[in-house]
Amino acid sequence: TSLTNGDAGSLNKVPTIKFTKLFINGDFVDSLSGKTFETIDPRTGDVIARISEGDKEDIDIAVKAARHAFDNGPWPRLPGSERARILLKWAEIIEENAEELAALDAIDAGKLYHMCRNVEVPAAANTLRYYAGAADKIHGEVLKMSREFHAYTLLEPLGVVGHITPWNFPNTMFYIKVAPSLAAGCTMVLKPAEQTPLSALFSAHLAKLAGIPDGVINVVPGFGPTAGAALSSHMDVDKVSFTGSTQTGRVIMQAAAKSNLKQVSLELGGKSPLIIFDDADIDKATELALLGILYNKGEVCVASSRVFVQEGIYDEFEKKLVEKAKAWVVGDPFDPKVQQGPQVDKEQFEKVLSYIEHGKKEGATLLTGGKTVGNKGYFIEPTIFSNIREDMLIAQDEIFGPVMALKKFKTTEEAIKSANNTKYGLAAGIVTKNLDTANTVSRSIRAGTIWINCYFAFGDDVPFGGYKMSGFGKDHGLEALHKYLQVKSVVTPLYNSPW
Ligand code: ADP
Repeated sequence: TSLTNGDAGSLNKVPTIKFTKLFINGDFVDSLSGKTFETIDPRTGDVIARISEGDKEDIDIAVKAARHAFDNGPWPRLPGSERARILLKWAEIIEENAEELAALDAIDAGKLYHMCRNVEVPAAANTLRYYAGAADKIHGEVLKMSREFHAYTLLEPLGVVGHITPWNFPNTMFYIKVAPSLAAGCTMVLKPAEQTPLSALFSAHLAKLAGIPDGVINVVPGFGPTAGAALSSHMDVDKVSFTGSTQTGRVIMQAAAKSNLKQVSLELGGKSPLIIFDDADIDKATELALLGILYNKGEVCVASSRVFVQEGIYDEFEKKLVEKAKAWVVGDPFDPKVQQGPQVDKEQFEKVLSYIEHGKKEGATLLTGGKTVGNKGYFIEPTIFSNIREDMLIAQDEIFGPVMALKKFKTTEEAIKSANNTKYGLAAGIVTKNLDTANTVSRSIRAGTIWINCYFAFGDDVPFGGYKMSGFGKDHGLEALHKYLQVKSVVTPLYNSPW
């Protein structure tokens, strides 16, 4: 496994860090306290930059700016087509700056540079385009009501939105939150994860270049229990849209309930099953299973962390899976040959390793992996456990790392029961050529997304979000646009009514 800096050409892409301060009301400013925190390069554990640390007082100022922009500014009042024009311009600017945006996520989160550059950043531009297309098609209904009255509905922007984002897909999360709320006409304060603030700050700069008016987007880096808590308990924030852990989602919902009953949408954890039936193409199935758990080093809410394989192909599947996992290339995420970079930080690295130890102690069979890679940074081998029992911690908890729990099954009924044996319900995958099996299983699994013969297939127009303790409220699709709108009913008498 190579832990060098990859080939020289690719590594020259490591960016200069230009933006490290809070972005409030159109300007980059220091935090009131003057405090800063370090953001770390997970390849080495070295400090990349010091970032201004936002706290409650900074959140207050940012929310005031967003409130002023909402109550008095042009943004919510612009014709949808004008908002669309700015979003489309921003999409172009993203493409012009794709390399820098991609490199910021690669260095800050240990993500594969080429995946960011070729997939995630272009997708972020397209997310803006999708919602730009919707911005001038927001309309209510005309309702008949009764003989004497006539009613119609208006879809109004919800107001000031607080976005709290995680560290695994910094660019993607920024744009799937910001784009629909901007199209709806909302203003916002976004708190990026403390592990990965760099691309959100750069995107704030791009927003300004695109012509987003001051105060419409504010970005306040800081920690969860301080800045994040201030946002979710703020009396003047109308909604919090959160993506992160189930545990933090619960805290945010409590804060919302205790303060002003602001709306909440939560995209939380998962322990998603991938069910592979006897009729599957084994090569394709092993590839899906590996991609499902190793993409973004397993730091994916929809990771297929539980894989159920039918008994007829189990042995051959296991053999091929292990061979491929052993050949998987872990190393510098800027190296185009590398398939898996480092875990995001020391805390996650240690957490994943402790789950691996737990798996061994609980008696699961470690088929491959389990160790760290190299002597610096936070690299972990692709790890596969078999012979798991469903009550084991490694089969129940979201590990958020490159750790798969593999289990054999006999019947479809058994697979469905196992797949649903989780508190989560974010996604599931099914691999089969049998349409009846695919239909039966997809309707029997309690999860928000079902992938048949594919995995990680996202679309701007395809609603995404969880069932059960994976949360509620969708990202993507027109559902996400409606999440940032509210319905007003307007009633008027028709004839000479006594009113
Ligand atoms: P993880 O534990 O994997 O870092 P979290 O769900 O805690 O995942 O983090 C996701 C986001 O939630 C981050 O931006 C983080 O700062 C924020 N966060 C953490 N704790 C709180 C909290 N108490 N209130 C609001 N936001 C929080």
